[in-house]
Amino acid sequence: MKYLLLLLVALLILWQWRTWRERGAPDDTPSRGSAAHPIEMVACLQCGTHVAVSEAVTGRLGSYCSAGHRQRHEA
Ligand SMILES: [Zn+2]
Repeated sequence: MKYLLLLLVALLILWQWRTWRERGAPDDTPSRGSAAHPIEMVACLQCGTHVAVSEAVTGRLGSYCSAGHRQRHEA
């Protein structure tokens, strides 16, 4: 029973160490946080330029880089 408890503690430490390593690895790079939270990109249907989803203009047919391209493509 004593060894079972020791094994459990060892596994817990190993698991904790692995989570710490996975979380700590991207922090070594200069672009800290970008690997953990990649920005989702979409291509403009009119010109093909990739823009961030948060900055894209959404139309009836899809996403665009600007309102002008949405008007031109959906007209
Ligand atoms: Zn465009």
